[in-house]
Amino acid sequence: MSQNNNLFLTVSEVQRRIISDIQAVKGFERVDLRHALDRILAEDVTATFNTPPCDNSGMDGYAFKSSDINDQSTLTLKIAGQSFAGHPYSGTVRSGEAIRIMTGAQVPADVDTVVMQEHTEKPDDDSITITTLPKPYANVRKEGDDLKTGQTFLACGKKLSPADLAFLATQGIAEVMVSRKLRVAFFSTGDELRSIGETLGNGEIYDSNRYSLYGLLTRLDIELIDMGVIPDDRQAIENAFSTAASVADAVITSGGVSVGEADFVKETLEKLGQINFWKISMKPGKPLAFGTLGDCLFFGLPGNPVSVIATFYQFVQPALKRMQGQSIVLPLTVKAKTTEFLKKRPGRTDFQRGILEQSESGELTVKNAGTQASHVLTAMSRANCFIVIPAESSSIEVGEMVDVQPFEGLVD
Ligand code: AMP
Ligand code: MG
Repeated sequence: MSQNNNLFLTVSEVQRRIISDIQAVKGFERVDLRHALDRILAEDVTATFNTPPCDNSGMDGYAFKSSDINDQSTLTLKIAGQSFAGHPYSGTVRSGEAIRIMTGAQVPADVDTVVMQEHTEKPDDDSITITTLPKPYANVRKEGDDLKTGQTFLACGKKLSPADLAFLATQGIAEVMVSRKLRVAFFSTGDELRSIGETLGNGEIYDSNRYSLYGLLTRLDIELIDMGVIPDDRQAIENAFSTAASVADAVITSGGVSVGEADFVKETLEKLGQINFWKISMKPGKPLAFGTLGDCLFFGLPGNPVSVIATFYQFVQPALKRMQGQSIVLPLTVKAKTTEFLKKRPGRTDFQRGILEQSESGELTVKNAGTQASHVLTAMSRANCFIVIPAESSSIEVGEMVDVQPFEGLVD
């Protein structure tokens, strides 16, 4: 693959380059409905019968023939029987008659209109008077008005939501075919990094990136292979890359991809696979390595904790979603009005950490979540969105509209 160390690429160009080549992983499994939540459907699902399976009442009230409606303002009908949910009425209903009916109860073939109970009075035990006449066919939920036999109602590639589980259940479907879970290996690189439980020496810090990656990947319902901290050592790095590539669909590392980093990371990757080292015109998260190690996708994220999360959202998550077979993969962007001055220099696209709120009138507003530096987790932790400010833009004044990417989990 070609690379040009001096060229800055835009965020959307890198997204395009990464996503355009990615295929959904092969491999499926059948799972029961309760295990299908958030999995990616690997088949089209078709209705085998109409739902609802019969005409039924949308109200508690009385069912009668619309042909009985005349030009009078009220209508008195004789009660011929009752249809309760799960207990249909089996007799006939004649002109001048009504049956008591409950929501969800079958509407007998002889009648076509339901009047809600609140629009009736009962002159005696055997009859009702409709005081507000409904329109013909009112309050009847028709057979098949949700799904018709033969209709494909869930398409391959759909991430299954709670509503989808309900939808499948209405068709009595107990199991569906879903894409197998992705396996993703990840590790951190850096001689300064210690794992939780170890004692920090002078100049050392705890490895936090493996925890953000753990969280981000878990949200995507991925099988994780946590390979720990790998020191800045040629052989250790090479071994880690080889092991990761042999067991995983994708490998994610953090650290060691910036300009001037120990050359053996680059060397090893070039030896083992096809890797691009990109400089992206974004802030935070300038350097990114992307390519393949054998059949495995490789993402080398920058080391700074905020850069890891920003580059994961923009590049890794869309790629993994594509590998899962998902059709919609790029982060959702909405517009919000900024209630604070947002400092920005023209040049790179900013992914500022923001707090998205909804005012009492329903308007979306956004403000700065704190100090915008790529090593500062305080603002990242407070934030619930990225404020995306285009490369060419300078600072944003109070009251201007900005693009905002709500974090996954905030809106879905
Ligand atoms: P690097 O990209 O390796 O030059 O790292 C850039 C910055 O991120 C340095 O300050 C590193 O100490 C820090 N860093 C790298 N990896 C991690 C990690 N796993 N957890 C926390 N900080 C890290
Ligand atoms: Mg490093």
